[in-house]
Amino acid sequence: MQNQSSDMSIDPVNILKVHSLKHTKQRVRVLEEIALDTVAISQPELEKKLGKEIDRVTLYRILNIYEDKGILHRIMDMNGTANYAICSPSCTEDHHHDEHVHFNCTQCNKIYCLDVVAPPIQMPEGFTASAMTTTAYGVCEKCNSAAITGN
Ligand SMILES: [Zn+2]
Ligand SMILES: [Zn+2]
Ligand SMILES: [Zn+2]
Repeated sequence: MQNQSSDMSIDPVNILKVHSLKHTKQRVRVLEEIALDTVAISQPELEKKLGKEIDRVTLYRILNIYEDKGILHRIMDMNGTANYAICSPSCTEDHHHDEHVHFNCTQCNKIYCLDVVAPPIQMPEGFTASAMTTTAYGVCEKCNSAAITGN
Protein backbone atom coordinates (compact mmCIF):
# COMPACT_ATOMS: atom_id res chain seq x y z
CA MET A 1 0.00 0.00 0.00
CA GLN A 2 2.57 2.60 -1.04
CA ASN A 3 0.40 4.45 -3.47
CA GLN A 4 -2.60 6.10 -1.87
CA SER A 5 -3.06 8.79 -4.48
CA SER A 6 -5.37 6.97 -6.89
CA ASP A 7 -8.95 6.53 -5.83
CA MET A 8 -9.47 2.80 -5.61
CA SER A 9 -12.54 2.88 -3.44
CA ILE A 10 -15.68 1.43 -4.94
CA ASP A 11 -18.95 2.67 -3.60
CA PRO A 12 -21.70 0.18 -4.52
CA VAL A 13 -24.51 2.61 -3.77
CA ASN A 14 -22.97 5.21 -6.03
CA ILE A 15 -22.40 2.68 -8.84
CA LEU A 16 -26.08 1.76 -8.74
CA LYS A 17 -27.03 5.43 -8.83
CA VAL A 18 -24.75 6.18 -11.79
CA HIS A 19 -26.30 3.31 -13.76
CA SER A 20 -29.82 4.27 -12.64
CA LEU A 21 -30.45 0.91 -11.03
CA LYS A 22 -32.79 0.53 -8.11
CA HIS A 23 -30.78 0.09 -4.96
CA THR A 24 -31.61 -3.11 -3.11
CA LYS A 25 -29.76 -4.67 -0.23
CA GLN A 26 -28.91 -7.75 -2.28
CA ARG A 27 -27.53 -5.75 -5.21
CA VAL A 28 -25.32 -3.76 -2.86
CA ARG A 29 -24.08 -6.97 -1.19
CA VAL A 30 -23.02 -8.53 -4.50
CA LEU A 31 -21.01 -5.46 -5.47
CA GLU A 32 -19.47 -5.21 -2.01
CA GLU A 33 -18.30 -8.80 -2.19
CA ILE A 34 -16.79 -8.39 -5.66
CA ALA A 35 -15.12 -5.07 -4.84
CA LEU A 36 -13.47 -6.57 -1.78
CA ASP A 37 -10.53 -8.03 -3.64
CA THR A 38 -8.42 -6.98 -6.59
CA VAL A 39 -8.70 -10.44 -8.11
CA ALA A 40 -11.83 -11.62 -9.88
CA ILE A 41 -14.24 -13.79 -7.93
CA SER A 42 -15.74 -16.99 -9.32
CA GLN A 43 -19.46 -17.60 -9.38
CA PRO A 44 -19.24 -20.68 -7.09
CA GLU A 45 -17.22 -18.61 -4.63
CA LEU A 46 -19.88 -15.88 -4.69
CA GLU A 47 -22.60 -18.46 -4.15
CA LYS A 48 -20.73 -19.81 -1.16
CA LYS A 49 -20.21 -16.35 0.36
CA LEU A 50 -23.68 -14.98 -0.29
CA GLY A 51 -25.70 -18.20 -0.19
CA LYS A 52 -27.32 -17.36 3.14
CA GLU A 53 -28.51 -13.96 1.96
CA ILE A 54 -29.16 -14.41 -1.75
CA ASP A 55 -30.49 -17.47 -3.53
CA ARG A 56 -28.79 -18.71 -6.69
CA VAL A 57 -31.41 -17.50 -9.14
CA THR A 58 -31.39 -13.98 -7.71
CA LEU A 59 -27.60 -13.89 -7.70
CA TYR A 60 -27.52 -15.05 -11.31
CA ARG A 61 -30.01 -12.35 -12.27
CA ILE A 62 -28.05 -9.62 -10.50
CA LEU A 63 -24.79 -10.69 -12.19
CA ASN A 64 -26.49 -10.60 -15.59
CA ILE A 65 -27.83 -7.09 -15.01
CA TYR A 66 -24.41 -5.90 -13.91
CA GLU A 67 -22.77 -7.39 -16.96
CA ASP A 68 -25.37 -5.81 -19.27
CA LYS A 69 -24.94 -2.41 -17.65
CA GLY A 70 -21.16 -2.38 -17.91
CA ILE A 71 -20.62 -2.68 -14.16
CA LEU A 72 -19.02 -6.11 -14.14
CA HIS A 73 -17.19 -8.10 -16.75
CA ARG A 74 -17.13 -11.86 -16.91
CA ILE A 75 -13.96 -13.83 -17.44
CA MET A 76 -14.04 -17.57 -18.04
CA ASP A 77 -11.21 -19.43 -16.36
CA MET A 78 -9.46 -22.45 -17.80
CA ASN A 79 -12.06 -24.77 -16.26
CA GLY A 80 -14.92 -22.89 -17.89
CA THR A 81 -16.06 -21.31 -14.64
CA ALA A 82 -17.36 -17.75 -14.78
CA ASN A 83 -15.42 -15.15 -12.79
CA TYR A 84 -16.49 -11.58 -12.26
CA ALA A 85 -14.54 -8.37 -11.81
CA ILE A 86 -15.50 -4.70 -11.53
CA CYS A 87 -15.40 -2.87 -14.86
CA SER A 88 -13.35 0.15 -15.72
CA PRO A 89 -15.32 3.40 -15.41
CA SER A 90 -15.37 3.77 -19.20
CA CYS A 91 -17.60 0.71 -19.59
CA THR A 92 -21.19 1.49 -20.51
CA GLU A 93 -24.32 -0.41 -21.36
CA ASP A 94 -23.64 -2.55 -24.47
CA HIS A 95 -20.04 -1.45 -24.58
CA HIS A 96 -17.29 -2.90 -22.51
CA HIS A 97 -13.82 -1.40 -22.58
CA ASP A 98 -11.97 -3.99 -20.56
CA GLU A 99 -9.17 -4.47 -23.03
CA HIS A 100 -6.71 -5.19 -20.25
CA VAL A 101 -5.00 -8.55 -20.05
CA HIS A 102 -6.38 -11.19 -17.72
CA PHE A 103 -3.98 -13.45 -15.94
CA ASN A 104 -5.18 -16.90 -14.95
CA CYS A 105 -2.82 -18.49 -12.45
CA THR A 106 -2.46 -22.21 -13.07
CA GLN A 107 -1.55 -22.82 -9.43
CA CYS A 108 -4.09 -20.90 -7.36
CA ASN A 109 -6.54 -20.59 -10.28
CA LYS A 110 -7.16 -16.90 -9.48
CA ILE A 111 -7.85 -14.41 -12.25
CA TYR A 112 -6.22 -11.00 -12.12
CA CYS A 113 -7.22 -7.94 -14.13
CA LEU A 114 -3.83 -6.61 -15.16
CA ASP A 115 -3.34 -2.99 -16.04
CA VAL A 116 -1.73 -4.02 -19.31
CA VAL A 117 -3.37 -3.62 -22.67
CA ALA A 118 -2.97 -6.25 -25.37
CA PRO A 119 -1.64 -5.03 -28.72
CA PRO A 120 -4.43 -4.15 -31.15
CA ILE A 121 -5.58 -7.02 -33.29
CA GLN A 122 -6.76 -6.31 -36.81
CA MET A 123 -10.04 -7.98 -37.71
CA PRO A 124 -10.52 -9.39 -41.21
CA GLU A 125 -12.84 -7.48 -43.49
CA GLY A 126 -16.50 -7.98 -42.67
CA PHE A 127 -15.86 -8.75 -38.99
CA THR A 128 -16.76 -6.21 -36.32
CA ALA A 129 -15.51 -6.96 -32.83
CA SER A 130 -17.44 -5.32 -29.99
CA ALA A 131 -15.24 -6.75 -27.25
CA MET A 132 -11.87 -8.38 -26.98
CA THR A 133 -10.36 -10.43 -24.22
CA THR A 134 -6.82 -11.58 -23.79
CA THR A 135 -5.97 -14.13 -21.15
CA ALA A 136 -2.48 -15.08 -20.11
CA TYR A 137 -1.84 -18.32 -18.25
CA GLY A 138 0.99 -18.97 -15.87
CA VAL A 139 2.10 -18.43 -12.29
CA CYS A 140 1.02 -15.30 -10.44
CA GLU A 141 3.18 -13.05 -8.28
CA LYS A 142 1.89 -14.59 -5.05
CA CYS A 143 2.53 -18.19 -6.10
CA ASN A 144 5.95 -17.25 -7.49
CA SER A 145 7.06 -15.63 -4.23
CA ALA A 146 5.68 -18.55 -2.21
CA ALA A 147 7.89 -20.85 -4.31
CA ILE A 148 10.95 -18.69 -3.67
CA THR A 149 10.49 -18.51 0.11
CA GLY A 150 9.74 -22.22 0.19
CA ASN A 151 6.19 -22.01 1.48
ZN1 LIG B 1 -16.58 -3.74 -18.76
ZN1 LIG C 1 -1.35 -17.94 -8.10
ZN1 LIG D 1 -10.70 -7.60 -16.07
